[in-house]
Amino acid sequence: MQHISVIGAGTMGNGIAHVFAQNGFSVTLIDISQAQLDKAISTISKNLDRQVAKSVITEEQKASTLQNLTTNTDIAAGVSKADLVVEAATENTDLKLKIFRQIDESAPAGCILATNTSSISITKIAAVTKRPDKVIGMHFMNPVPIMKLVEIINGYATDKLVTEKITALSIKLGKVPCVVNDYPGFIANRILMPMINEAVYSLYEGVADINEIDTVMKLGMAHPMGPLQLADFIGLDVCLAILRVLQDGFGNPKYAPCPLLVNMVTAGKLGVKSGEGFYTYTPGSKDASPVKIR
Ligand code: NAD
Repeated sequence: MQHISVIGAGTMGNGIAHVFAQNGFSVTLIDISQAQLDKAISTISKNLDRQVAKSVITEEQKASTLQNLTTNTDIAAGVSKADLVVEAATENTDLKLKIFRQIDESAPAGCILATNTSSISITKIAAVTKRPDKVIGMHFMNPVPIMKLVEIINGYATDKLVTEKITALSIKLGKVPCVVNDYPGFIANRILMPMINEAVYSLYEGVADINEIDTVMKLGMAHPMGPLQLADFIGLDVCLAILRVLQDGFGNPKYAPCPLLVNMVTAGKLGVKSGEGFYTYTPGSKDASPVKIR
């Protein structure tokens, strides 16, 4: 594999493009928005500067990484030479199905089509293409250049050889691959989201306050961040959407989102991105103070 196309230049897309380009692949980063592409290249450049400052890479490696990157606002042209496409566009089922139909039309016949989706069925995405055996989940974690895990998700029809190629490729990127099967939430979110939901329930039922809940999990379980603060970083709307996927997918009431989480999302308290969730955040500051929950 040499030519990689990454679709979506947001938080995840720029990190995925960064990691492939740094490891010598020729990368085409694709987005509908030229402004997002410009922003992504500038973010990658700043992140590379940070790696140079920490002596993780040299100035020459930074320059060659940037040289390996090109951008495009047209999917058809951007995937026409790809050996692998990694889709990291907005988490919306209809949008992803549309994008996969487009990629399937324009990418070379042997090209593997991967998606970075956190929660949408790989089997469902694969089913709209003429190559379901070559569709796979490649779930990177945020921030991509730092986080070691790649959760590789086999769709119902994914060819074993495709899984082996993507596993070997992930190792080449310096990542640790874990292969799982395509059921709601895969492994990462199937286990993480009920834990976050239980933390919200503990708060809602008055078992403990925000600080206590997060401190128990940080100091007691050696988690680097408490579940409520982690929910703020992920986005409370994203957590709610993934819980709904688990609830619908398994038809099991144990995944029902806590009414407090639903209320907070309805009120626009989405966590770090809206400035307030379980904590309040000031742009440019690392301080976070717990809010008074109603
Ligand atoms: P984001 O909102 O930061 O970026 C999405 C990008 O997709 C935007 O730049 C948008 O312009 C672009 N886009 C929308 N429609 C497009 C189209 N038709 N063609 C090309 N580009 C299009 O989102 P994100 O947080 O980077 O998430 C992307 C994917 O990664 C989602 O599937 C999400 O579930 C998954 N994911 C996110 C995280 C996370 O922590 N943010 C972690 C793991 C996986």
